[in-house]
Amino acid sequence: MGDFDVLVRGGLVVGPTHVVPADLAIADGLIVEIGPEIEGSAAAEIDATGLHVFPGCVDPHVHLNDPGTDWEGFSSGTEAFALGGGTCLFDMPLNASPPTVDGPSFDLKVAAAREQAHTDFCLWGGLVPGDVDRLDELAERGVIGFKAFMCDTGVDEFPAADDLTLYEGMARAARLGLPVAVHAESDAITMGLTERARREGRTSVRDYLETRPPFVETEAVARAILLAEETGCALHVVHVSTAAAAVLVAEARSRGVDVSCETCPQYLLLTDEDAERIGALAKCSPAIRPRAGAEALWGEVGAGRIPMLACDHSPAPPELKQGDDAFSWWGGISGLQTLRGTLLAVAQERGLTLPEVAGLTAGAAAERFALPRKGRLEVGFDADLALVDLGHEGIVERADLRYRYPQSPFVGMSTRGRVVRTLLRGDAVIEDGRLVPNATFGRIVRPEM
Ligand SMILES: [Zn+2]
Repeated sequence: MGDFDVLVRGGLVVGPTHVVPADLAIADGLIVEIGPEIEGSAAAEIDATGLHVFPGCVDPHVHLNDPGTDWEGFSSGTEAFALGGGTCLFDMPLNASPPTVDGPSFDLKVAAAREQAHTDFCLWGGLVPGDVDRLDELAERGVIGFKAFMCDTGVDEFPAADDLTLYEGMARAARLGLPVAVHAESDAITMGLTERARREGRTSVRDYLETRPPFVETEAVARAILLAEETGCALHVVHVSTAAAAVLVAEARSRGVDVSCETCPQYLLLTDEDAERIGALAKCSPAIRPRAGAEALWGEVGAGRIPMLACDHSPAPPELKQGDDAFSWWGGISGLQTLRGTLLAVAQERGLTLPEVAGLTAGAAAERFALPRKGRLEVGFDADLALVDLGHEGIVERADLRYRYPQSPFVGMSTRGRVVRTLLRGDAVIEDGRLVPNATFGRIVRPEM
């Protein structure tokens, strides 16, 4: 026995503002000391010489499809996440059966996750048309907030929230002290353009992209902000794909509206030409933008107006990604394992420091959603760490992906940093780049109210 449970020796600790060479001591799952050459002993010592110690990724937007489907699940999904340095993800309320829209479905999801999760997790509840009292049930049980779609979801059991549903749901969420997250695209315009394209037999990737032009996002973001302002609800806009939407969010925030946004690697790293070349694996909504749009979005990230990244991992079996009709493909991209690595690969050329990368992939989401003790390497925080060898530069290989269906549009793209170890509250989940057997101790994280 020693003074600590774990001592991480000699690493380069990526803090909120600086990278410092330091030891890091862990006791009872918490970081208890960070400093040079910490005195004392520990039950386990980890030599982190030459490695960077990052906070574990906190990803606010993931679809793991448990329970009731065999699409991904918490086991394979959280293994892939931990291999990418992840320690806490937020699971979305749709694409599991049943969807998480009331107390009983929440309980089923927690039970499924608890048996399988290799990382901590938060659960979004669904805001769908119907009895608004269900939000109370979900809040009582500890959802992180409520997710609503302003456009068709493609899933019958999880219908879009019409404006009245959104308004009344936001009013209730505001009373409950929880945020509402919106997928913001105009239903009327996307549906109309989609029906017209399909009727006319125009079903290529380009045709699909043209049914979801950038303004359908900004229109819906503006409407969601209006409702948030009216109800006093905290609003989070998921997967912002245009600089214009990020600017709307920033303007609203500057006049006092409680609103935030995230974007995803696919909107920064892929272009419409990639989408055409890659096909079904790069189909998502909002749609992938032309290069100029992605560049403008990088500008918003660089300016701090988009403070967090999410992968929006939304896998599907390969048979749903086949055929010539781009409209019939399942829309959703697999990116849970590659979030930070693909960002690190371009960080330098984009002028992002390592603390900024840590903020984009962990700190900002933890702070925005009031996760207790998550997202930063500081004394008193959970010892959720990724030990990363930044000397490793390569490309994303299909063979390395641990998803149930190892496919992704990021295969072949640059990645930087091999995650040597991932620790969850001080316990090893990943060692030598592999899942530790029986490392199934992920817990639900509830927001600090
Ligand atoms: Zn999503």
